[in-house]
Amino acid sequence: MLHDVIVVGGGFAGLSAAMQLARARRRVLVVDAGLPRNRFAEASHGFLGQDGKPPFDILRQAACQVAAYPTVEIARGEALKALRDENGGFGLQISDGRRARARRLVLATGVADTLPDLAGLKERWGATVLHCPYCHGYEVRDRPLGVLANHPMAAHQAAMIPDWGPTTLFTQGRFEPDEEQLSLLNARGVTIERQPVVELLGSAPTLDAVRLADGRVVSISALFVAPSTRMASPLAEQLGCAFDDGPLGPMIRTDDWKATSTPGVYAAGDAARAMHNATLASADGVLAGVGAHQSLIRDVQFAA
Ligand SMILES: Cc1cc2nc3c(=O)[nH]c(=O)nc-3n(C[C@H](O)[C@H](O)[C@H](O)COP(=O)(O)OP(=O)(O)OC[C@H]3O[C@@H](n4cnc5c(N)ncnc54)[C@H](O)[C@@H]3O)c2cc1C
Repeated sequence: MLHDVIVVGGGFAGLSAAMQLARARRRVLVVDAGLPRNRFAEASHGFLGQDGKPPFDILRQAACQVAAYPTVEIARGEALKALRDENGGFGLQISDGRRARARRLVLATGVADTLPDLAGLKERWGATVLHCPYCHGYEVRDRPLGVLANHPMAAHQAAMIPDWGPTTLFTQGRFEPDEEQLSLLNARGVTIERQPVVELLGSAPTLDAVRLADGRVVSISALFVAPSTRMASPLAEQLGCAFDDGPLGPMIRTDDWKATSTPGVYAAGDAARAMHNATLASADGVLAGVGAHQSLIRDVQFAA
C-alpha cells in the first residue's frame, strides 16, 4: 500500500504530525520504537492539561486518539532504512521485516543524550540528575541544588537555578566563567566550586551529596546537567538531510513548515529544533503534519 505519509517516531512530535494528517483524511503510517527521550522521568511537567502525568500515559492516550482515525496505522518497530525511490516517494524498511512506501516522510525520531561519565550519575537521570529546571525544578525547590558543568551553557543554567533553590556551580575543570558571567553568578548568589565532582552519593535515585576530588562532601539534592545530544536515528543522514549545529548537538535543518533540505522529507521535535520540550516538539509536529499535507495538495504528479 502507498501511504500518503509515513511518520517515523511516535513521540510528542510524531503523534502531533499524524493527528493533523489523520484529520485531513490522509493515509498515515506511524512507525515507533517506543523509546521517548523522557522515559527516565516518572512524571512529565508543563505540558498543558497533562501536568504531572507519567510520560508513557500521555503518549498512550495520544496514540489511542490518533489510532481512532480510520486512515491511520500505528506500528511498533524501528525504521531501519529509508530510501528515495525514482517516483519521488520513499521506501522504508522496518525491523519487523515489513517494507512500507509513502509519498512523504516525517522524521520525528528525537535525540539521545550523552551523559557525563561520573559514578552514580546514570542511575539518577530523570529523577535527581536533571537537564531542565522548567520540567523538574519545581519538584526539587528550596533544596540545595547543583549545576555540573559539561558545556559552556553551564553558566547560563547556573544563573537560572537559584529561582528554585540555593545553587552551587561545579566547574569540573572544564569551564571557567568569564567576568560578565561571574558577576551575574555572584549577583544571583551562586557558589562556585572548582574541585571536580567524582561521585554522587545516596541511595539512588535519591541524591544526598556529591564527593569532590579532594575528599570533601557537599550536600546536594539535585544536580542539573546539560548533556550533549545526538540523533536517535540515522535516517536523516541516510536521506541526505542537511544539519545545523544546535546548542548541545546537531539538529536537522528545516524551514518554517519543517521541510528539510531533502524534498518530501519533513522533520519535527527535538531532532529538528534547538530548544527541547514536549510542548514545543508537539507544536513542531503540527507544523510538519500541516506542511506535509499542504505539499501533497500541490503534488500534481500523484493527483487523483
Ligand atoms: C529525563 C528527561 C525528562 C524530561 N522531562 C520533560 C518534561 O517534564 N516536560 C517537557 O516538556 N519536556 C521534558 N523533556 C523533554 C522531552 O522529553 C522532549 O522534548 C520530547 O520528548 C521530544 O519529543 P519528540 O517527539 O521530538 O521525541 P521523543 O519523545 O524522544 O520521541 C521520539 C520517538 O521516536 C522513536 N524513534 C526513534 N528512532 C526511530 C526509528 N528509527 N524508527 C522508529 N521509531 C524511532 C523513539 O523510540 C521515540 O518513541 C524531558 C527530557 C528528558 C531527557
